[in-house]
Amino acid sequence: PAVQHQDFIRQIVRDDLASGKHVAIHTRFPPEPNGYLHIGHAKAICLSFGIAREFSGWCNLRLDDTNPGKEDPEFVEGIKDDVRWLGFEWHELRHASDYFEVFYRAACKLIEDGVAYVDDLNAEEMREYRGTLTAAGRNSPHRDRSVEENLDLFRRMRAGEFADGSKTLRAKIDMAAGNMNMRDPAIYRIRKIAHQNTGDAWPIYPMYDYAHSLSDALEGITHSLCTLEFEDHRPLYDWCVDKVDLPNHPELWQPLLDAGLPTQPAKPRQIEFSRLNLSYCITSKRKLAQLVADHYVDGWDDPRMNTLRGLRRRGFTPAGLRLLIDRVGVSKQNSVIDYAVLEGCIREDLDATAARRMAVLEPLKLVLTNLPEGHEETLSFPNHPKDESFGTRDVPFSREVWIEREDFAEVPPKGFHRLKPEGEVRLRGVGIVKCEQVIKDADGNVVELHCTLDPETRSGLPGADRKVKGTIHWVSAKRAVAAEVRVYDRLFSVAAPDSEDDGKTWLDHVNPEAKRVLRGWLEPAAADVAPEQRFQFERLGYFVADRVDHRADAPVFNRTVTLRDTWAR
Ligand code: ATP
Ligand code: MG
Ligand code: MG
Repeated sequence: PAVQHQDFIRQIVRDDLASGKHVAIHTRFPPEPNGYLHIGHAKAICLSFGIAREFSGWCNLRLDDTNPGKEDPEFVEGIKDDVRWLGFEWHELRHASDYFEVFYRAACKLIEDGVAYVDDLNAEEMREYRGTLTAAGRNSPHRDRSVEENLDLFRRMRAGEFADGSKTLRAKIDMAAGNMNMRDPAIYRIRKIAHQNTGDAWPIYPMYDYAHSLSDALEGITHSLCTLEFEDHRPLYDWCVDKVDLPNHPELWQPLLDAGLPTQPAKPRQIEFSRLNLSYCITSKRKLAQLVADHYVDGWDDPRMNTLRGLRRRGFTPAGLRLLIDRVGVSKQNSVIDYAVLEGCIREDLDATAARRMAVLEPLKLVLTNLPEGHEETLSFPNHPKDESFGTRDVPFSREVWIEREDFAEVPPKGFHRLKPEGEVRLRGVGIVKCEQVIKDADGNVVELHCTLDPETRSGLPGADRKVKGTIHWVSAKRAVAAEVRVYDRLFSVAAPDSEDDGKTWLDHVNPEAKRVLRGWLEPAAADVAPEQRFQFERLGYFVADRVDHRADAPVFNRTVTLRDTWAR
């Protein structure tokens, strides 16, 4: 496919291919399986997978599973599912834990080369020794241990001889470095906790920067794309890659070949881009997890959640999300994208791809008194007003129909063009009806409208062109299928729920009205459909058959988005 994007990352890739620095590019997406992916991850996925695809390269999916205790195989499956749902397929699926033996051997090499040492300082002491932005740190009293002593201690750490937190392996770099990440960062810590893949094999686990850079190098990643907060980590990333020097030390990665994992290490280049931030959204897995744990929502896939699972269940489309990422573009400038931009992308996709149907969410009965008792007929409706390839469908019509309660007003406000006493309105695809009588119950509530249908205005007849101001939708009361319709709004009632400058916490901004459950009626062709089928319900918005709860005989639909941006500001 033609390469259209011109952002700085694609330019680097293009230059590297043109200069012959790389004959093919290799990227990766490295989520930690400690939660489900969110809307922000869609950007990282679209970039790393998308660029690999555009330049005929590869992209790996790597689970960054170096934090046992916080990670779960359930999340691994969810992540795989979400990446595929977004429309991407990985070249290889890897786990950082596949490389634990390599990381260990590489750490021994660093010790032998005199650039790593075992420290006995505890976490608090280490913080104190690290210094501050304006004051250099101090060397640990253990920094000058001999290679032999360090090797012996590190092997005993690995053998499980020491308690959690009592020792760490640190890179020996520079305690006066301006970049705090270079002040002898820890590269291994003791954690006697079982790992979801390696079980009890390891009492020590590598730290993020060390594991991440070496994983990239091992997989032959050429361009390692990540978000801006890692910019300060790049010197350490490069330090690890250079000091371990995997391409020239095959003995370090021989275990991978022995295990049947094809391996051809390279020197990767880290490139940072700005995060995707969206108003009304939370893009922190920790906070999303809290919404689930504290029952603010019904799970990670609750349609109110801006997880990929939630957006999917809400009816958002992969193409709509990819369109958002294209529109937002790639730069190093941090910004917040208005949630309305996302909704606009989803509408744009659904307008083109969703068939039209009729549904009534808050019903009021309308009886056409001049049609014979029990009258029924079948009308033919186009499925898409702008695309004939969608074909047509049969829509049952009968003497009694449901209309939307709010399409009738006994005392109409100014400019109301729908139905009122003595007024006329067009019933979509049927003809013009006149409201002759308003039937009320004992409490004065309107329960039924008695109308007459002007037979001259039925479609196909010469009078069909007669103008009335309003057109309303309807469903046959006789044939309609009862449905549960879940109407969603934004989960947070303020644009920046994360900003705590108003003295409130982000949880104070959860919108309790973000979900309403309605009992409505669907035309039959909207009910007998598969879960995840998406429609535009005319005049109401885009809806999706709930992927968990929908059944043809008991339909459940979620409102994805309204037809227009009606959010009250
Ligand atoms: P959290 O802090 O919520 O746990 P994370 O960034 O630690 O999120 P990871 O699973 O480590 O989550 O993320 C995998 C990749 O996705 C990383 O490379 C990260 O840079 C990227 N990523 C995470 N959030 C965003 C975002 N909002 N926009 C773009 N990329 C993101
Ligand atoms: Mg992370
Ligand atoms: Mg994180």
